[in-house]
Amino acid sequence: MRMVTGILTDFQAYAQRTGSDPANQKTRQNYGEWRATAHPDQTLLWPPARNGPCWCDSGREYKKCCGTPAKN
Ligand SMILES: [Zn+2]
Repeated sequence: MRMVTGILTDFQAYAQRTGSDPANQKTRQNYGEWRATAHPDQTLLWPPARNGPCWCDSGREYKKCCGTPAKN
């Protein structure tokens, strides 16, 4: 599983270029797949490696951030 970051203006340009409806869920899926291929550096494996940087961009390790279950 991968997470793909997208940019709204880039998505709009993609929809226009492909003649797709930006409101259509299928367009978002296709955009994600295209972006994962065109910009593999902007995709993240899910879940992140425990010692790797957290996906939320906090700058902390995943295991010390979102990878830690909430303590009650
Ligand atoms: Zn996090």
